[in-house]
Amino acid sequence: MNTPHSSYEIIIAGGGPVGLFLACELALAHCSVLILEKTENPASPIKRLPFGLRGLSAPSVEALDRRGLLEELEIPKRLTDPHMPSGNSSRRQTGHFAGIPFYDDQLDTTQWPYRLPGSAPTHLLAEMEELETVLTRRAEALGVTIRRGLALTGLRQTESGVIVQAGPESVQGQWLIGCDGARSAVRKLGGFDFAGTDPEFTGYSVQVDVADPQKLRPGRNHTATGLYLQSRPGYFAIQDFDGGAFHHSGEPLTLAHIQKVLRRISGTDVTLTAVHVATSWTDRARQATAYRNGRVLLAGDAAHIHSPLGGQGLNLGLGDALNLGWKLAALIRRGAPETLLDSYQAERHPVGEQVLAWSRAQVAAMKPDPTGRALLDVFRDMIGTRDGATYVAGRVWGIFNHYPLPGSHSLTGRSAPHFTFDDGTTLAEHLRQGQGLLLDFEANTSLETFFGERYSHILYRRLRPAAPSDLSALLLRPDGIVAWATNDTVDWQELEIAVRE
Ligand SMILES: Cc1cc2nc3c(=O)[nH]c(=O)nc-3n(C[C@H](O)[C@H](O)[C@H](O)COP(=O)(O)OP(=O)(O)OC[C@H]3O[C@@H](n4cnc5c(N)ncnc54)[C@H](O)[C@@H]3O)c2cc1C
Repeated sequence: MNTPHSSYEIIIAGGGPVGLFLACELALAHCSVLILEKTENPASPIKRLPFGLRGLSAPSVEALDRRGLLEELEIPKRLTDPHMPSGNSSRRQTGHFAGIPFYDDQLDTTQWPYRLPGSAPTHLLAEMEELETVLTRRAEALGVTIRRGLALTGLRQTESGVIVQAGPESVQGQWLIGCDGARSAVRKLGGFDFAGTDPEFTGYSVQVDVADPQKLRPGRNHTATGLYLQSRPGYFAIQDFDGGAFHHSGEPLTLAHIQKVLRRISGTDVTLTAVHVATSWTDRARQATAYRNGRVLLAGDAAHIHSPLGGQGLNLGLGDALNLGWKLAALIRRGAPETLLDSYQAERHPVGEQVLAWSRAQVAAMKPDPTGRALLDVFRDMIGTRDGATYVAGRVWGIFNHYPLPGSHSLTGRSAPHFTFDDGTTLAEHLRQGQGLLLDFEANTSLETFFGERYSHILYRRLRPAAPSDLSALLLRPDGIVAWATNDTVDWQELEIAVRE
């Protein structure tokens, strides 16, 4: 490895959505950040509508709102997924489990008592390309250096940092974070174990011209050999239960191959005349057993992969970035203990595990065999009930996410409710700077003194919620998670522990 040309506090490999968002978080906390991105040009048809549509669930929507990024996206104009046929135009389909849809009017949101209605909804749709554009703009405005067309090809840890090889250059960082996607070089070179299960199928997302479209049905079709979804004429998602053989064969994705697969799965002799967009993927479900090895960390698809069914991968990755960013910045900027950084793995690994399990359960129910059909029927019955649909939506949208933090209040460890205050501001606006926040609803001067004198990195705000609230004070982490809350008097010992955590 050459002598390093330049040095940064943090090097991020991968300028996808997770790397970009993480860079924004770190730069917001005044860290120097370099992103190395393999591709020269981030634009790709697969990142555009309809293939590039990604469902953003509650924690991601909140995160973007709390950093002032939500308003920069066109999202609110796209509440309905054109890629998802509703089958009933009077209802809005808001998600699915193994292809079984659930609708907005089925959900009983009173079962989510710690969520207040607010500016950030529970789920939205974003386009990958637009999301990356907005995040790139923000990262650059915050001073992040982005080097495109430069892939990480080597790394070496030293006592005080990491030396990274990227093309002909070597660069030094105090920390390296692999956000370089499913085939992460950082994960492979950094000595991480990637444990999990092998795929059941090859999935295809294609846009094709069909000579005889009447031979294929619109919507989602479970057949004896697999599944095909025609969301609009010529746009197909196909699942071929070949054990992932095609995807891993490295063979080119040709018109002849797509036609062969579509014919077999649809049981027709349909003819394709052109392919405009085509990509394949699998349901391989693997997760790094550790997210940190010394000064190298993983986030996003580099840390976990699973099938895109139910669309949770991006959300999982953005959640990693939000969790990791402020912790690493606290270590670098104000010498926070390493245990804070270790809590990244402790908090995020179980969330990833749950998403992988959810993905495997969906694959099991989609298998074209008697067991799969039986499971699908059971889930269809369950999702047909109000409680069942509400539970599934809550799981998919991360409503139940909860970190095991010390503290007795039921809100502790959860994302803070969306308060609107009587001065017209919202909670999200008070979190824009990415700092911890003490919300004092009862003008408690002892709290103000406590934070003013001892914890200047935490913002103190004396505010009153616009709607009646039982709460008298809350301490929020920079990621908007409640670290401490009280409805009553202040338990100073509990508060002290929460601040130190
Ligand atoms: C068909 C499909 C539909 C999906 N739908 C949804 C959905 O609705 N909701 C959802 O939440 N998720 C969805 N996902 C998953 C989601 O797209 C991914 O989880 C998300 O893109 C992961 O972001 P990332 O930044 O971790 O990785 P990536 O987006 O893969 O970005 C990694 C970046 O690293 C770069 N890179 C790779 N190697 C190197 C290297 N050696 N050096 C430097 N740079 C490198 C790559 O060029 C890339 O830009 C879907 C995925 C697919 C395939």
